[in-house]
Amino acid sequence: MFSLHGQKALVVGIANEHSIAWGCAHALKAQGADLAITWLNAKAEPFVRPLAEELEAEILLPLDVSQPGQLEAVFAEIASRWGRLDTLVHSIAFAPRADLHGRVIDCSAEGFGLAMDISVHSFLRMIRLAEPLMTDGGCCLSVSFFGASRVVRHYNMMGPVKAALESAMRYAAADLGEKGIRVHALSPGPLATRAASGIDHFDEMLAEAAERAPTHQLASIEDVGAMAAFLASAEARNLTGSVHEIDGGFSITA
Ligand code: NAD
Repeated sequence: MFSLHGQKALVVGIANEHSIAWGCAHALKAQGADLAITWLNAKAEPFVRPLAEELEAEILLPLDVSQPGQLEAVFAEIASRWGRLDTLVHSIAFAPRADLHGRVIDCSAEGFGLAMDISVHSFLRMIRLAEPLMTDGGCCLSVSFFGASRVVRHYNMMGPVKAALESAMRYAAADLGEKGIRVHALSPGPLATRAASGIDHFDEMLAEAAERAPTHQLASIEDVGAMAAFLASAEARNLTGSVHEIDGGFSITA
């Protein structure tokens, strides 16, 4: 029904073939988009480069959003190679282990600040750099979780961080709507990825999601990718500022 043919997309957050960002990159490419893909650092490169090459990514660069200048370098390369950008996928998060595993009220100011910077403010920085390149409008996506709006056991400090991400998404959508730049959060149910392995008792979260979701199916990275590709398309031009739950209906249950 929709095509992304000729579109240019930046996907940030692939660590391996289980990453949500990989599901998004795959779906965007399948619908015809050209890709720019980043990896965190030299340790991650050997895992990410073959995946980027499999999707014939035209731009491959390192990106640690906490390193000054790296994000700017990625956008400078996109500007010089493509001169424009249509879709941005921000699929990254970080929280220091000790802070993540404790009670929210015990988390350190440093840990909370770092989690907010990498998981939230980096999305705003990316959108700001994308804005001048999204001359025909565009779509900026981040990835949230149900723990943003409800207390999910063991999700701890990432709850308030994702709540901030969703609010930042809405304000960015309001800032940029008149330019045709749309901003959304994808909110998948729990998925067994590397980031998820940092959450205590994650297996219990998976089991509960499968049991309670009306479909009794866990979300897959393909499900998330399909939603990302649709939101990136021209057919979704009048949608912005939403949190899209991709969870087999888990979030409607009590
Ligand atoms: P993942 O481990 O595959 O991806 C996390 C990515 O964040 C990695 O590629 C890592 O390199 C990147 N990252 C961390 N710090 C970074 C930094 N300083 N600079 C640049 N990149 C950095 O795990 P995932 O589950 O695919 O996570 C992607 C997003 O999805 C995260 O925002 C996560 O909170 C969110 N999410 C995950 C689930 C789940 O159950 N797995 C559910 C809902 C939302």
